[in-house]
Amino acid sequence: MEFTRTEPDPASQTCGYQIQVGGWDNDGNRFCVAPKATGLYFCQEHHDWVIQDEPDGIVRMAPGNVRGH
Ligand SMILES: [Zn+2]
Repeated sequence: MEFTRTEPDPASQTCGYQIQVGGWDNDGNRFCVAPKATGLYFCQEHHDWVIQDEPDGIVRMAPGNVRGH
């Protein structure tokens, strides 16, 4: 999977899901660089992942995050 070391702008069209948190056992932060899916805050893969933890099926994001278009 493609990734970047620096967090993408939440107002951009880049997914930006944090794939890996930097720590002693790895090589640092990784953020997804796939394009956001239309109408979603993440790429389809990470939307499907995040939604598993939302019992009402709604992803809540901080202001400033935009959906894919
Ligand atoms: Zn993603």
